[in-house]
Amino acid sequence: MNLLASKSKQIGDFLVTVLNDGEMNVNLTFLSGIDEKSAAKIQTEAGISNVEQIDINCYLIQGHGQTILIDSGTGGLNDTGGLLLKNLARMGITPNDIDSILITHAHPDHIGGLLNNEGEPIYKNAKIYLHALEIEYWQNDQALEQATERGKRNFSLVRRTLKAYSQKINIFDKNEPIAGISPIFLPGHTPGHTGFKIGKGESSLLIWADIVHFPHIQLPDPTISIVFDYDKEQAKVTRQNLLEKVVKERQLIAGMHTKKSGFAYIYNSDQQNSYKISYLN
Ligand SMILES: [Zn+2]
Ligand SMILES: [Zn+2]
Repeated sequence: MNLLASKSKQIGDFLVTVLNDGEMNVNLTFLSGIDEKSAAKIQTEAGISNVEQIDINCYLIQGHGQTILIDSGTGGLNDTGGLLLKNLARMGITPNDIDSILITHAHPDHIGGLLNNEGEPIYKNAKIYLHALEIEYWQNDQALEQATERGKRNFSLVRRTLKAYSQKINIFDKNEPIAGISPIFLPGHTPGHTGFKIGKGESSLLIWADIVHFPHIQLPDPTISIVFDYDKEQAKVTRQNLLEKVVKERQLIAGMHTKKSGFAYIYNSDQQNSYKISYLN
């Protein structure tokens, strides 16, 4: 696996860098509303050779004397991803340099990198921020009981992580966790799924987390959901509303599962409620 050159963009007072954590395999049969063959065809036509492989991105934000991470990648769990620390090191940044970590949601490809193999916090000086509903959900014993085996492993990871960082956990409230960075509640993928808007107006960036996993499949048809969406209906409504908004506002976006180059604009395609992505070079 190659370490890729990082890509940075100045957004107002902040320098935002996309840090790739690697790739993970996601079965095309996990999508609902499209058959596997059609999904594979779209991926191939988009120039993606491994049609079931998606990128995992994290973002580094530097400014106002702060070094901030958005999400932590997989930490190498299940032999996927885990490149974040190496990519940080290439920039001369150690885990102890991170002041805050904003978590979009608590799936393993977003929080897996918070603990080391001994189950201890990797980011010893960092405050961790996440949505109250996200904590509530993963701490709910009834939800744990109803989960699949794979889901139960996710619950266990979230609980171990929250416990290890218990003194450092902060919940988003009406205030910006960090001046100039606003949490944007985007529920559906998980109960507390949150994006972040950095800066204001024309010079702003929306990091939309897991709004899509397969951009070339889900943007042309935002009604297509994935098995990881906790509430498929809500995820669909959130996705459609957000896409409409980012097009209207010509909002620069970045995602955790958009490709490695990270930053992109979304455009309307010829059909109604259908979109396409254009990455910044
Ligand atoms: Zn997710
Ligand atoms: Zn994800």
